[in-house]
Amino acid sequence: MSISRARVVLSLLDTLVGLKIFDVIHYATPNFLTVLNYHRIEDPFKQGFDTFKPNISARPQEFSRQMEYVKARFNVITCEQLAACLRGEKKLPPHAAIITFDDGYTDNLTNALPILQKYNLPAVIFLTTDFMGSDLPFYWDAVAYCFYHTKKNDAFLPLTGECSWHDEHSRERIMLRWIEAVKKLPEDEKRAMIQQIGPLLDVEIPAGAFANLHLTWEQVRAMRRSGIEFGSHTAAHPILTRIPLEQARREIQESKRKIEAEIAEPVISLAYPNGGSADFFLLM
Ligand SMILES: [Zn+2]
Repeated sequence: MSISRARVVLSLLDTLVGLKIFDVIHYATPNFLTVLNYHRIEDPFKQGFDTFKPNISARPQEFSRQMEYVKARFNVITCEQLAACLRGEKKLPPHAAIITFDDGYTDNLTNALPILQKYNLPAVIFLTTDFMGSDLPFYWDAVAYCFYHTKKNDAFLPLTGECSWHDEHSRERIMLRWIEAVKKLPEDEKRAMIQQIGPLLDVEIPAGAFANLHLTWEQVRAMRRSGIEFGSHTAAHPILTRIPLEQARREIQESKRKIEAEIAEPVISLAYPNGGSADFFLLM
């Protein structure tokens, strides 16, 4: 989503809240489980912000307003409580909701946790274990860094061809189109393609450019003590239907084991990467 589109969507959401549309939907569906999926809680407009802006789900002040809304209208439960409901040991409360975060960014601790604590709301964070505590960027953050720092106004990019941009918005549009094209490649081709983007845009990523982007295990343990639940988001964040089955199995098992070893508790939840209906399969 581009920043201008994000602004339109946010103001549309505000309008819908003002018109009480969500209240009508909410009261008409008391037996539904609502799952709120967030990624980052950050201000994409702050000076020097140079990672993938569309991964920001809300700015802190918006997140705070949303949590106030959720607290007043929903019974927010944990994955553990949901599991007990699925086993038939408990009944799902009316207007049940789960608050989730994917990927494991540090702003979940610095920006989201104080707001969750203010409203006394539980949440689950799905961790991508290969990245925890490392300076290693997700590919979309590395690609965004190159687009935000390039001095070029045009380039010939594999997959999308010759392209040029004249302002922030057109550059953002081209970046998104390229990321969408890369996303569809098999994982090893995707990795090779991403290696090319820095040289193609004449950008060298300095060491430490992504320091403190991901939660550390120490921070995860501290958040666990504050009541946050943790689940798996795989080890390396591949789209599971685009890798061999055995590798997909390893991705899930290894990340689950790693989190269990670090927090000394069983992990019972998984959020598969990319979130689309074509990005997972059920094995009977
Ligand atoms: Zn993800």
